[in-house]
Amino acid sequence: MTRIHRKSVKKGFDFTLMVAGESGLGKSTLVNSLFLTDLYRDRKLLGAEERIMQTVEITKHAVDIEEKGVRLRLTIVDTPGFGDAVNNTECWKPVAEYIDQQFEQYFRDESGLNRKNIQDNRVHCCLYFISPFGHGLRPLDVEFMKALHQRVNIVPILAKADTLTPPEVDCKKRKIREEIERFGIKIYQFPDCDSDEDEDFKLQDQALKESIPFAVIGSNTVVEARGRRVRGRLYPWGIVEVENPGHCDFVKLRTMLVRTHMQDLKDVTRETHYENYRAQCIQSMTR
Ligand code: GDP
Ligand code: MG
Repeated sequence: MTRIHRKSVKKGFDFTLMVAGESGLGKSTLVNSLFLTDLYRDRKLLGAEERIMQTVEITKHAVDIEEKGVRLRLTIVDTPGFGDAVNNTECWKPVAEYIDQQFEQYFRDESGLNRKNIQDNRVHCCLYFISPFGHGLRPLDVEFMKALHQRVNIVPILAKADTLTPPEVDCKKRKIREEIERFGIKIYQFPDCDSDEDEDFKLQDQALKESIPFAVIGSNTVVEARGRRVRGRLYPWGIVEVENPGHCDFVKLRTMLVRTHMQDLKDVTRETHYENYRAQCIQSMTR
């Protein structure tokens, strides 16, 4: 562990995660599944609809979690789903503006007198949800991601993977990766691992990169599977388990976010996205 890393482990991490994409793709549900695990443990089962309201404006939720002894102060930014409106032109605008406002605030604080304890509300990662029902990306997805890719680390998500068979998941993933490439969308690039890492680590890293877009399943209900109570979705023909790596990439995504890549997502936000914003600001001031 490097010295800096040790220090941040002790202090705990601040991290802001945003979710975006079409309405009804399970964004709010996934966030609940990702981070509120403890809140609902052994509670009586409620329908998802009772707990989650439709998201109509950009909202922030703070969650404190502990991950292997490391404190995490998470802020979740939930954005209104688009796609319902007749006219979706520039539906990415409020989201882009929100990200810029956080940069602006940080820029102002950083230029101020008291620079010691700046509250960092910059958005470190945006999970962008892609519909499992389309043939790859929709024009709106392309427009949205391109409006955001210079501002934030985009991690693409294939939503509601339980509605697809495993070969369909593979096929859609491949198509989406091709289209991301073809349309010049700059998603978050997982860093190459150090050459001195062991083989296991390298294989894991490779598997992570090949999982893009992460196929996920979200659920707010606990079901009984193989004698254990797990988060899952109960169908007449069986159960899909959120945290079963054989069923979806949920665990991979969660591990990536809160353990293996959190610091890199923050570094890229600071070194690339925020620097871009800052350079533009300074340029416009001196013109
Ligand atoms: P949002 O509009 O993107 O925030 O979507 P919600 O989280 O509100 O979910 C919309 C609906 O989809 C709800 O009825 C959820 O129970 C359901 N849902 C959420 N995640 C999944 C999933 O992974 N698979 C399936 N089949 N349904 C899901
Ligand atoms: Mg929502």
